[in-house]
Amino acid sequence: MTQDSTNGTNGVPKVNGINGANGVNVANGTNGTHTNGTNGTTSSTKAASFTKINEDLDYDVLIIGAGLSGIYSMYRMAQLGLRAKVLEAGSSEGGTWFWNRYPGARFDSESYSYIFSFSDEILKEWDWTEHFSPQPETLKYIEFVTRKLDLRKHMQFDTRIRRAQFVEGSNSWKLTDDQGRTYTSRYLITAIGILNEPTLPNIPGVHDYKGEAWHTARWPQGGENQLQGKRVGIIGTGATAIQTIQTIADKVGSLTVFQRTPNWTAPLRNDKISKEEMEEIRKDYPEIFRKCAESYSCFIHVGDNNDTVATPVEERERHWEHLYEQRGFTKVLAISSDIYTNHEANALYSAFHEKKIRARINDPKVADLLIPTNHGFGTRRTPLESGYYEVFNQDNVKLVDIRSNPIERITATGVHTTDGNDYDVDVLVYATGFDAVTGSFNAIEFEGIGGTKLRDVWGEGIQTFLGLTVKNFPNMFMIMGPHQMFGNIPRSIEYAVQWTAEFIEWAVENQVTYCEATDEGVAAWTEHVHECGKGLLANEVDSWMTGVNKNLAHKQKRSMTRYNGPAPGYRKRCEEVKGREYSDFVLKKAGEA
Ligand code: NAP
Repeated sequence: MTQDSTNGTNGVPKVNGINGANGVNVANGTNGTHTNGTNGTTSSTKAASFTKINEDLDYDVLIIGAGLSGIYSMYRMAQLGLRAKVLEAGSSEGGTWFWNRYPGARFDSESYSYIFSFSDEILKEWDWTEHFSPQPETLKYIEFVTRKLDLRKHMQFDTRIRRAQFVEGSNSWKLTDDQGRTYTSRYLITAIGILNEPTLPNIPGVHDYKGEAWHTARWPQGGENQLQGKRVGIIGTGATAIQTIQTIADKVGSLTVFQRTPNWTAPLRNDKISKEEMEEIRKDYPEIFRKCAESYSCFIHVGDNNDTVATPVEERERHWEHLYEQRGFTKVLAISSDIYTNHEANALYSAFHEKKIRARINDPKVADLLIPTNHGFGTRRTPLESGYYEVFNQDNVKLVDIRSNPIERITATGVHTTDGNDYDVDVLVYATGFDAVTGSFNAIEFEGIGGTKLRDVWGEGIQTFLGLTVKNFPNMFMIMGPHQMFGNIPRSIEYAVQWTAEFIEWAVENQVTYCEATDEGVAAWTEHVHECGKGLLANEVDSWMTGVNKNLAHKQKRSMTRYNGPAPGYRKRCEEVKGREYSDFVLKKAGEA
């Protein structure tokens, strides 16, 4: 690795010889399952005449990204009979699940709730083998979906889009890829994910290291086997690091974990799914997706509004003990909502988890280091673990606290800390996260009306209308853009795609070729997003969810990256816009000035 082996535009690491990426974390839970994903009302005559209006353009619709967002978008566009194309940087579909192949990568939401709900046929035919699917199985599922819906023929891989310009004369989009090829369309759907641009730590010497250095999001083929008996160092202790650490600890010769901030984490309790159990789950799909549709952030786990502090201690603890024994996010989501808004309630629940963690770690000094002190339980995205804490009881594992004793530099052979210690390693793993949410957009030069740069528009704070559109960027729809729900991501994706597809269907029916958010719409929506976030402890804390990434060359202010209100409320507002026949937008038909 050399000093300049980052990609200039967005500080993307080139640790494994790959420059950044494209992809998606998965979507919705709106209205249960439906088979064909479209209202089926667009006549082929209307589609044909819409396509005729666009005949000077390569496509009616271009979609960037072949993760779950891009796959479902493409499906809906094909259903409408439109000329659409998916352009994908990776060599295959899958998005997040294509890129993140590090050891132990898996869902930490129940597999059967974290997938597409729109096709009964797919739900009928696909069997999950674990409650929390490992990455290889999830990728196989995504490939199965793409095959089943015959979508690969609409996808162009190894195509990294670098620039997206709105062409005012023709009210169209022009995309340019990294080989200089261009693609034009009337509408543009961005399906580029929220955790897609990996970042290396801003530590001096990162590029001086001479051993193997891998970012978890660019894990090399066969990498896990290469770790056997090696001295491995890992920087980071987020969700990704936790899965990696617990998976490799007993395979490597030694593991040194460089931790800046400990995270609260609790047991995942994964298990195999038998054939019989899968049949029960299949029968339960309508109920699963109904629960997701009705819940605050689209999960199957639902909390309550009890007063945590006022609840008698024994009753409270009994309830928490019960939740602790359950699978998945139960202990994160099926709790009282005041744990997320009230410092005292949160401190009580944090103390409960502190006890649980301490009981699993032999050395109290190590336990001290693993207990978060700068944020409460659940105020950052809570990773779930399987044997993570026990790893630190192993003789071959060392925890280095780099908050009190920072890394001074990366050397040719390993890591040098300010106390003068050198940690020489054969493989250095960067589990240092992503330039989240806006990073995916900043990796492409988005240029709207009058040359407006999206990077500049959001530089002063994210502004959107419905999290789906941006003023000055007409005809562009964002699937998993900022200001959307980041809870159960497949549920959010499904809804955003559904809303966008319904708009495009309406545009085709009405031969509408221009759609732009207004200043008033953006101001009101952005204000609403900020209002929803008020009082949430999570918004007082630094994390990728609040837009903080200290590794970026440019300073980034803490920002409201996601919609913090209830998902049903979000969808109601979007449906109201649809109900008003999209009159909240500036709309033009072909030929209108
Ligand atoms: P992350 O949560 O942002 O964690 C990055 C880690 O790297 C943090 O521990 C951070 O420390 C550390 N770090 C970053 N820069 C550093 C530096 N310069 N020096 C020292 N340490 C540094 O990233 P992630 O773990 O990849 O997870 C991101 C998100 O992906 C998760 O929150 C989750 O939403 C998603 N994810 C999901 C799954 C799943 O579904 N199962 C699995 C993995 C990830 P600080 O905290 O001090 O900054």
